[in-house]
Amino acid sequence: MYDVVIVGAGAAGLTAAIYAGRKKLKCLLVTGPNIGGETNSTNDIQNYPGYEGPGPELMKKFWASAKKWGCEIKEDLVQKISNNNKTFTIDLMSGEKLQSKTVILCYGRERRKLNIPGEDKFFGRGLSTCTTCDAPLFPNKDTVVIGGGNSAVEGALELARIAKKVYLIHRRDQFRADEVTVELMKKEPKIEIITNAVPVEIKGEKFVSHLVIDVKGQKRDLSVQGIFSEIGWETHTKLVEGLVDVNAVGEINVDEFCRTKTPGLYACGDLTHIPYKQTVISAGMGAVATLEAYRFVSGSGPSHEYVK
Ligand code: NAP
Repeated sequence: MYDVVIVGAGAAGLTAAIYAGRKKLKCLLVTGPNIGGETNSTNDIQNYPGYEGPGPELMKKFWASAKKWGCEIKEDLVQKISNNNKTFTIDLMSGEKLQSKTVILCYGRERRKLNIPGEDKFFGRGLSTCTTCDAPLFPNKDTVVIGGGNSAVEGALELARIAKKVYLIHRRDQFRADEVTVELMKKEPKIEIITNAVPVEIKGEKFVSHLVIDVKGQKRDLSVQGIFSEIGWETHTKLVEGLVDVNAVGEINVDEFCRTKTPGLYACGDLTHIPYKQTVISAGMGAVATLEAYRFVSGSGPSHEYVK
């Protein structure tokens, strides 16, 4: 029986492991192969206090600290979490079953897929889901960004500083992105905005050469070397179905102590309804959740005793 099982090893999970280790909780961190999570996809961190540089380097430091404090680590994926008589049972893909008094969910979210032909074949071969990370790979190239939210519009602006040409294609004619950013994009001569357009197929030999789009029923073939799919995220919560409440876009609702609706079950970082998906915030939430789990396990009183 563990005191705490932490699911996911991004900024939130690794911070939770440090805090759990230092509190001498019997702790297990379950993670897939992506140690460091979303922070790994950022090449230039400038807003993590005390650190400036590549995301993966920062995450290596988190990982080293997490291991130092003695939390057990297991590479596996969680399939299902259930709660009976105040005990959590965690079913792993490998078939193993774990038991714990508390669970902290830190497994982040996943980028939405286009679900069009060529998407899997050309991922990493001209197709990227992170403009911030990969724009520098396309100097003087023809490129396209798909989406109408802040990531797509900011991504198109970033890409315009590097690429020769940027198409921005969006399935509607109203943008989700902030008006001020859309205005900036409209003024950028390198960007051609095509609205009411959906991607249909990605073509090429070894690397991307074309994106076929459908604009109000008319097919158009864009000759591009780089495609950036910036169409948002999905949060997977089926593994904790019934144990958590979610918001309108499927993110887990938590209170200020990272508590879900199930006592002993906490959530932190990008999978929560908290809108600021930042490394520093995930790390902070990992600390809050673990201190709260410690309180729960050690019976040092329910949180309603906190001074208001
Ligand atoms: P988002 O706001 O969910 O926007 C996703 C965009 O992709 C939408 O325009 C959507 O179209 C489109 N889309 C979704 N599925 C599609 C599909 N299958 N085919 C074509 N288009 C598709 O995602 P995001 O831009 O990644 O932003 C996520 C969150 O982070 C937002 O809250 C955003 O404000 C925030 N963010 C903030 C900043 C900043 O403040 N500087 C920067 C980046 C992101 P519809 O509009 O038609 O649904």
